[in-house]
Amino acid sequence: MYELIIIGGGPAGMTAAVYAARKKLDALLLSKDVGGQVNWTLGIENYMGYQLIEGPELIKKFEEQVKQFPIDMKIGEDVSSLSRIKGGFEAKTDGAKTYQAKAAIIVTGKRPRPLNVPGEEKLRGRGVTYCATCDGPLFAGMKVAVIGGGNSALEAVDDMVKIAEHVYLVSLTQLTGDQILIDKVKGAGNLTIFLEHEVLEISGEKLVDGIKIRNLKTKREKELEVGGVLIEIGLIPNSDPVKGVVTLNRLGEIEVNCNNETDVPGLFAAGDVTSVPEKQIVVAAGEGAKAALQAHRYLQRLG
Ligand SMILES: Cc1cc2nc3c(=O)[nH]c(=O)nc-3n(C[C@H](O)[C@H](O)[C@H](O)COP(=O)(O)OP(=O)(O)OC[C@H]3O[C@@H](n4cnc5c(N)ncnc54)[C@H](O)[C@@H]3O)c2cc1C
Repeated sequence: MYELIIIGGGPAGMTAAVYAARKKLDALLLSKDVGGQVNWTLGIENYMGYQLIEGPELIKKFEEQVKQFPIDMKIGEDVSSLSRIKGGFEAKTDGAKTYQAKAAIIVTGKRPRPLNVPGEEKLRGRGVTYCATCDGPLFAGMKVAVIGGGNSALEAVDDMVKIAEHVYLVSLTQLTGDQILIDKVKGAGNLTIFLEHEVLEISGEKLVDGIKIRNLKTKREKELEVGGVLIEIGLIPNSDPVKGVVTLNRLGEIEVNCNNETDVPGLFAAGDVTSVPEKQIVVAAGEGAKAALQAHRYLQRLG
């Protein structure tokens, strides 16, 4: 049995690992990947110490720092559940492996919210993307649809009108992003905005070739010929492994107090998966550090 299991390898998880190692805890880090959402970020201008750094480069530096310490890291592990057992917790992976520890930190972050329409799953990575920042350049010179009405969607539109032949912005509601962004994109000659429209399906055999949308008021349907669909409708917390074990808020985020404690003794959480506001790398890293220090205190009390 380990002393501590850290589930998640984004900024919160990697920082927690460094702090746990410096407290000489016998810790295991389990994660699907290294870096989490930071891998999808091109230019980061608000992580202290760097005026501008690309996401993958920052993650490389984080990983190098973690590897300075004797932390047991198992990457490529998808934790399906974490349950309470006598004397601690047991993490089960989708490959049916189990790992036990006296304490645990959940740092599983967030993932893009899917549209849940026909064609989406089949064409994921074949013209359907959830990261305009990462994949936008693949659609240069093409017609694309950006789905969403908030800041992420507007930022995607702002990037795409500069490189795509035409951009269709499809939003279920009126635009909810910042007025400054709305004003910035509105005048683009190659942009058509469909407000209060829903996406019914994404079509294409091997690659996306179009979408069908419907006006919520008139119910009139329309087909748009596009080679890319950039879905920017928000993120959802990866709290499924602890559903039913800890209290989640109405957004599905893990409720934590300012010591990163959940309502289960010995179970801590940090970063974007938690109720802590302001989802940023610097915040996730700071919270990850706090969670590891609190876990250390908890283990000291256990004796
Ligand atoms: C496009 C984009 C641009 C952004 N730009 C910026 C920016 O410029 N500046 C900034 O400060 N922030 C930015 N952010 C936000 C920032 O990336 C997040 O706040 C930060 O990554 C959160 O870190 P985290 O460790 O909590 O979670 P994540 O980064 O989401 O990492 C979660 C980790 O948990 C793992 N995981 C998830 N579920 C499981 C499971 N079941 N089993 C095992 N492992 C699991 C994942 O593989 C991943 O390694 C951006 C986000 C996006 C999406």
